[in-house]
Amino acid sequence: MTRDSTDVIEITPSAPIEAARHGWRAKCLQRLARMALPVPRSFAISSQAVQAIAGGHPVPKEQLRSLFGNGETLVSVRPSAMRPEWGGPGTVLTVGINDESHARLAERIGRAHADAIYLSFVQSYAINIARLDPDMFAQEGDGALAEALRIYRDEMDEPFPQDPSAQLAEVLRSMARAWDGPTARLLRQAKGAPADAPLGLVVQEMALAMGPGLCGSGTIQFIDSATGMPRVTGRFRGQRQGSAVGPGAETLYLTRDERGPSLEEAAPEVFADLVRFGIAARERLREEMQIEFVLSDSRISIIDATRVQRSARASVRIAVALARDGVIPPEEAIMRIEPRALADLLHHQVDPRAPRDLITRGINASPGAATGKIVFSAAAAQASAARDEPCVLVRRETVPEDIRGMHASVAVLTERGGTTSHAAVIARGLGLPCIVGASGISIDSRARLLRAGGRSFREGEVITIDGSSGEVLAGAAAMLEPALDESFEQLLDWADAAGGIRVRANADTPEDARTALRFKAQGVGLCRTEHMFFDDKRLPAMREMIFADTPEDRRLSLERLLPMQRQDFTELFEIMGGLPVTIRLFDPPLHEFLPHDREGLRELAESLDLPLSDVTRRVEALSEFNPMLGMRGVRLGITVPEIYDMQARAIFEATVEASRRGHPVVPEIMVPLVSARREVELVKTRIDAVAAAVRNEKRADFAYRLGVMVETPRAALRAGDIAAHSAFLSFGTNDLTQMTYGLSRDDAGRFMGTYVGQRVYDEDPFHILDQDGVGELLLTGAERARAQHPEITIALCGEHGGNPESIAFCQRAGFDYVSCSPFRVPVARLAAAQCAI
Ligand code: PEP
Ligand code: MG
Repeated sequence: MTRDSTDVIEITPSAPIEAARHGWRAKCLQRLARMALPVPRSFAISSQAVQAIAGGHPVPKEQLRSLFGNGETLVSVRPSAMRPEWGGPGTVLTVGINDESHARLAERIGRAHADAIYLSFVQSYAINIARLDPDMFAQEGDGALAEALRIYRDEMDEPFPQDPSAQLAEVLRSMARAWDGPTARLLRQAKGAPADAPLGLVVQEMALAMGPGLCGSGTIQFIDSATGMPRVTGRFRGQRQGSAVGPGAETLYLTRDERGPSLEEAAPEVFADLVRFGIAARERLREEMQIEFVLSDSRISIIDATRVQRSARASVRIAVALARDGVIPPEEAIMRIEPRALADLLHHQVDPRAPRDLITRGINASPGAATGKIVFSAAAAQASAARDEPCVLVRRETVPEDIRGMHASVAVLTERGGTTSHAAVIARGLGLPCIVGASGISIDSRARLLRAGGRSFREGEVITIDGSSGEVLAGAAAMLEPALDESFEQLLDWADAAGGIRVRANADTPEDARTALRFKAQGVGLCRTEHMFFDDKRLPAMREMIFADTPEDRRLSLERLLPMQRQDFTELFEIMGGLPVTIRLFDPPLHEFLPHDREGLRELAESLDLPLSDVTRRVEALSEFNPMLGMRGVRLGITVPEIYDMQARAIFEATVEASRRGHPVVPEIMVPLVSARREVELVKTRIDAVAAAVRNEKRADFAYRLGVMVETPRAALRAGDIAAHSAFLSFGTNDLTQMTYGLSRDDAGRFMGTYVGQRVYDEDPFHILDQDGVGELLLTGAERARAQHPEITIALCGEHGGNPESIAFCQRAGFDYVSCSPFRVPVARLAAAQCAI
């Protein structure tokens, strides 16, 4: 079998052990040995050797004998994959025990203990290696050992193997083969292991955890796995070795504990040594480790060490603490944290240890969890909020009018929609947990019933939305608090110092802007102004404007909106304190501001003092077969130019106002849904005129930057042309993805699961930027724009701006910044830093 002298090699401080060849456990044991910790004699078997064993090659007897040393040695065999998370077959203990060594052991540690050890090995060998029925090997108590040996002989027609080398050969073969089994393969592939991931094995002399004096096995760690705070935890099981339990078995707490006896009290020197070893291991292995140890008459053996399991919040604290203590550099702390994990820390989470009463699943559109009473309309949500009762807004899908209801809710659930549907985008902006595309639910708004999974829930019944996992749960689930602590801040400050792509936030309201600032966004990259018009006071003025018959009437209604918009922008500029703010001019089709049902139409007719038939006719006239490709964005700006005029005036007046109050700003005005250069020229001419007028009226000077939102494939292809009039281009990858694929961002959720499941698309392109298709438009657009206008600022502000892979793409393409929902800013900052390191 042996191809190389390192196929079976003793783990000594200087041995040529390699993680890639012998696995992480072998390498880790070598590091422990280098620290002169009391590690029992151990051998590494290389992955090539393990592969040969699995393929039926015999293991040479001489080599196995060398692993045993004298006739009394027993060994354990543990898996040693290339990475700890890839797992491996279960450890087998006390290999090598036979009648003779059992008898000697009985003299040394007592008959009952020796019996327990031998019995446990016979049982495990019979079940896992000889593959005998486990029911036949459930013996306990007196006579159990003899009985197990007898059954083995009867079933196998031969006595229990007595040659330690033969036992070991079988154990090695069985473990090598188990690694190749289909379940093991699937499990490790789910954790990112390649299909042909190799397995090494570690054979180690047993330190006996049974016998006279203080004996037992335990684990110790120095950090709390859930919180990441320093705390010694673990357990110590006296007179116990794996599943073998001897007389006098007793479990001790590690530290002083009023619930019962502890190792710290029973053996203070042992405890102190363990703590000392733990501190040394943290420094040498540069990681928080869980140490597995055995006490044999109070003598410590360190038999293994693994990376402490940890929650997302603990992983941040641990990485920051290691860097602060100088154990790892800050860059390494940054690289150790998965950016997506940060999103969960900003919100409440369903406690992973708590029971879950699952009703149904949908798309996890906005992270975090919240519990509230079911409501089926925005009005009911507002009423509920007025009563101080947290509520969950449940809708087939949300429309712009629902925004006030969303503000009043603690979470949102929709039957339809995908990751860039209205509900998803707004919820992420508000930091509300949200599940969309939950096609397993049906909503009966009349009966006020939600049906799902064969159950019905009335309005007012309590459910929990887990927007991180996409699970809808019945009742109130136990929650963990958000973890925006000082370690989190520190990690992100280090991340900013790494010099990655800049990160701005998409912020529509003062509250969004404050959140953006709290998360240290470097400006606002997208303020969607239309969201400002759904306010109770503004909607009537907006509707009046839409219904105006003449430009003069329209001007009058816009005059009512002007001071409100000016106030919005002044506030935004003040909050952002001089950081850049990009304001997108009005984008959606006008009919989104009109009522959709008869009741609403009647109310509107009343408030406008018009006959219902007139209102209905006008609403119908505004409706379009394909509104997302219709009269919206710059098309509206050109056909109804008064709207953009009013917005530009509000922006400039706010600029003057903000600068008078000590917050000078150079506003950035962005034109949406452009597809031709002439559109930009027309809009620019009017905006320049408004700027000139405001400068004149206010006797104040100010600068502004006009930019274009690249959301149509044509705008990307003609970016050179368009750049001539633009100070910046910002790719709106939501619409650009929709238009490149010809795929509705509001409806794709219905079949996206099937498409991704069948690998038509690798990922949902509304979630992770399609680098091959949409990405090519981005690169082409950026290149053509720069060729025409080398100083131009290039950015991305679609939902992809918060996605780590998409951020990496923008960074490689040399974009100036990405802009994402405020609650994704921390994720984006970390992802940007990781690309730069
Ligand atoms: C976009 O299309 O990418 C975008 C940011 O605009 P919206 O989502 O408002 O259409
Ligand atoms: Mg858009």
